[in-house]
Order: sequence, then C-alpha cells, then structure tokens
Amino acid sequence: MGKTTGFMEYQRKTSTDAEPLARLANFNEFHTWLPREEQQTQAARCMDCGVPFCQAGMMIGGAASGCPLNNLIPEWNELIYRGKWELALRRLLATNRFPEFTSRVCPALCEAACTCGDVTGSPVTVRENEHAIIETGYAKGWVKAAPPPSRTGKSVAVIGSGPAGLSVAEYLNKRGHAVTVYEREYRPGGLLMYGIPNMKLDKSVIERRVKIMQAEGIEFLTGMDVGKTVDAAELTAHYDAVVLCCGAKKPRDLAVPGRDAEGVCFAVDYLTSVTRSLLDSEFTDGKAISAAGKNVLVIGGGDTGNDCQGTALRQGCTDLLALEMMPEPPAERTASNPWPEWPRVRKVDYGQVECMARFGKDPRVYQTTVKEFLKDGEGRLCGAVVEYLRPERDPDTGRTNMVPTGETFTYDCQLALIAAGFVGCENYTADAFGVGLTPRGCTQAHDYHTSIDNVFTCGDMRRGQSLVVWALREGRDCAAQVDQYLMGYTNL
Ligand SMILES: Cc1cc2nc3c(=O)[nH]c(=O)nc-3n(C[C@H](O)[C@H](O)[C@H](O)COP(=O)(O)OP(=O)(O)OC[C@H]3O[C@@H](n4cnc5c(N)ncnc54)[C@H](O)[C@@H]3O)c2cc1C
Ligand code: SF4
Repeated sequence: MGKTTGFMEYQRKTSTDAEPLARLANFNEFHTWLPREEQQTQAARCMDCGVPFCQAGMMIGGAASGCPLNNLIPEWNELIYRGKWELALRRLLATNRFPEFTSRVCPALCEAACTCGDVTGSPVTVRENEHAIIETGYAKGWVKAAPPPSRTGKSVAVIGSGPAGLSVAEYLNKRGHAVTVYEREYRPGGLLMYGIPNMKLDKSVIERRVKIMQAEGIEFLTGMDVGKTVDAAELTAHYDAVVLCCGAKKPRDLAVPGRDAEGVCFAVDYLTSVTRSLLDSEFTDGKAISAAGKNVLVIGGGDTGNDCQGTALRQGCTDLLALEMMPEPPAERTASNPWPEWPRVRKVDYGQVECMARFGKDPRVYQTTVKEFLKDGEGRLCGAVVEYLRPERDPDTGRTNMVPTGETFTYDCQLALIAAGFVGCENYTADAFGVGLTPRGCTQAHDYHTSIDNVFTCGDMRRGQSLVVWALREGRDCAAQVDQYLMGYTNL
C-alpha cells in the first residue's frame, strides 16, 4: 500500500474535459490529463483493501464485476505513488498489452467495484492511472518493439484486426509463432478504428501500436476479405492454425414501413463513413454521411447511440432526438444492484453533455421506438412516427417485454441512425471455414477451438457484441489455447 491514509486525505480528481461547445468544433480527443505528480497523489487513494474486487473480473449479479483482464491494480497504484513508473508499466503490461486503448474507452468495470468507492463514495481513478502509466511509457521510450528471441517454426493466420485479433496476434507472436493478420479494411483496428469515433480514441494511437507490432514481426495484410477475396481452404492448408476474430457486426434492423427511405442507415455505417473520410481527406472527399443542417433521430442507446450523437453534433446537426426502448434507469443503485456489481444506473455520456450544451436538452426519450419512417415525394426521409412503449410481463416466460401503448408523436428528421444492437457475426466467414453458429449468431467453439481441427475463434465473433476489454481478454485466452494446440504445452 502506497500511503495508508491517502483515501482519507485526498479527494478524487480526474482529467478535465474541453468545454462542450468548444470541442464540437473538431473530432479531437478532448481530455486534459492530470500532470504526472497529481496522478501519483490519486494513486495514493488506493487502500490496498486486501480483497481487490477491482481486479477480480468475475460474474456477480449476472454481469462482470471488476477488470476482465485481472489487471494488478493495487500493485501498480502503489508503484505510481512511489514514482516507480517503469516498474508500474511492467506490472500493467503483464496483464494488459494494450492499455492505451482500454484507458481511453473502457467503461472502467474496476472503478465500479473499487472498495474505496464503496467506502468513500468516490473510487480510485484506476482508468486514468492506467492511462498515465502507458503514456509515460511511450513518452520515456520504454514502449518499443521487442521481437521474440527465437521462432518456433509454426505459423498462424489471424482473421480480423480488432482488439481480439490484435491481442491474439500479440501473444502468439511474442511466443515465437509467425503471425499474419488478414483484415478486409485498409486500416487495422476493427471497431477501435471504424466504430469508436476519433474524439474518444485518436486513430494515431492505434497506428502507433500497429507499427510496433509490425516491427516485432507481425505481418498485416489489409484489404483482404477472407471468404470472399481470400480462399478459406488455402489458409487452413497453408497455416498451422487459423483464428477467426471477425467481430459481431450484423446489425439489428427495424422492420417498419418506410425503412427504405433515403436517409435511414445503420449507426456503424454512419460512424465508419465519418472516420474514414476524416482520415482519408480531413472530410474534403465528401464521402462522409452528413448530419449537417439536418434533424437527426438516433434509434438506440449504449456506446453506439452516444457516439452517433457526438458525431452528428460535430457535423452540425440542427436537432437531435435519441430513442431508448427501455425505461429510464434509476439515478442511484437500487437494493437489488449492490456494490460491487456493475451499477445499472442512468449515465450521462459525452454525447448527451454536448447535446445539452448545444440544444439545452438531453436528447433521450425513454420507452419509445419508431413505428414508421416518413418519406417525401422523392423517397427521402422527412420524419418518423415514434411510439411510446410500456413494460409488460409475459406470464409464460416470466420475462418483461416492451409493448406498444398506441400513443405516438411525429418527429421531423432528415437522417435516422439505427443503433439497435447487433445479432451476431456476418455468416460468410464462418461459413467459408465450415464453422457452425450458435442460436445467437456467434461462432461455436469449446475453449476457443471450433469443430474444425486447426481453426479457433475469439472476441465478439464468439461471445457477441461486448467491450474492448473483453475482446482483449478473449484474445489472450485464445492465444494460450492455440499455443497448446501447436506445441503440446503452453507457457502463455
Ligand atoms: C459504435 C461502437 C462504439 C463502441 N464503443 C465502445 C467503447 O467505448 N468501449 C468499449 O469497451 N467497447 C465499445 N464498443 C464495443 C467494442 O468496440 C467491441 O466489443 C470490440 O471492438 C470487439 O472486438 P473484436 O476484435 O472482437 O471485433 P471488431 O472490433 O468488430 O473487429 C473485427 C475485425 O474483423 C474484420 N473482418 C470481419 N470479417 C472479415 C473477413 N472476412 N476478412 C478479414 N477481416 C474481417 C473487420 O473488418 C474488423 O476489423 C463499441 C462498439 C461500437 C459498435
Ligand atoms: S482495462 Fe478497464 S476494467 Fe481493467 S483496469 Fe483498465 S479501465 Fe479498469
């Protein structure tokens, strides 16, 4: 423990965000991080409570509680407090090879399970401590290519370069296997690159990491659509093992009249078009789907809905309405959702903060869905009929469903973004390898091994849409299974 009385002496302090209206002017990250010395003080708030729920990563109350990577949080908090940044980096990298991603986009399951949070009401700033460690590591030149000292002679193809693919590639390469990553996009990163917007994760952060991985010997082949432009059978014959990490990007659609209106599109297609145009040409190519001058309807909440709100505001939308199907969550934990469970409470994310600053209102309306999209004479979206819903318990299953109330209103809009979740992976890659799917549309596997001899799978493709931190954990565990298969034992 760094400082025994730290949690009593110091208040929680986090990075400051740029003023909401000012940050709408661009797509840059908008946090000003604490100076390193201040972060040391924050690390002193860690109580080293003895039972670190923060790093447990276990299922409590049907949801994960604590860090799924089992990051050694109290250990590196103490090292930060003592100013031993290089040692802290080593302890962090022991469990998390990509802290620059998690420290920017992770919802911080660790902080929700922090004992100091339970005792004092304000958890240790674990995520920002993690950020300070890794960025100090880069700034000091401690994070650099370290190729494996020897090679095993075995080869692995990783299909998909999202966080799961990067994670599995990283571990297998460090073990000495020759790793080739196949990616259908022209930039690696998966949803880190083309889902999560630049203001949340600057894309240079991904490029910086991929360069190191390339220098360590991993080959990235981009523009390769396996199962379409690349033959799956050739890969299974050529490589000793193949790992499918293609994500779960099949979007849930809305089967309502007017769905074919011009101006109704899936959220990830919208977000991808914006980031691609930003990176390709600073928007001069005109290829981004634009919300400029439009009233925008976002259907669905979560990270995706919020990212659509932040993006539309930056593009200059004239109004924003966000439909949430479920009832508004409580402001505080209920008795049935105690610490250290993940708190199922109402959150205000950056998109809503910015909407309040821009339009003076939270864009969310709860218990609603679209009943119909309205088109003008030329087939373009000009409005949506929104219907209110109410919860109703199904006596047969005991589940609560949201059912229409019949009460509606019309919202004039010219762009509608469907962020209603995902229904599993795109079938064609799994089909190309002969890998079966579960009823939820995910790849079937036992311990990450599919029913095909040398084919493995992990990440969202296996577990369904989840979080970056879970994709990294799946990549780590899957790499150990692949290593075991290739070598007959594993030390991963
Ligand atoms: C808009 C949005 C915002 C999100 N925000 C957050 C957040 O803030 N925090 C968080 O923790 N999580 C967030 N998530 C979830 C998180 O991004 C995913 O859980 C995570 O990226 C899954 O990683 P993955 O590697 O399994 O799949 P993906 O990231 O989806 O990567 C799959 C990769 O496989 C490639 N691929 C697919 N098929 C083929 C093929 N046949 N051949 C070659 N390549 C192929 C794809 O192009 C892609 O690059 C968000 C998700 C979305 C949609
Ligand atoms: S990866 Fe996420 S849950 Fe784990 S320590 Fe970092 S912020 Fe917390």
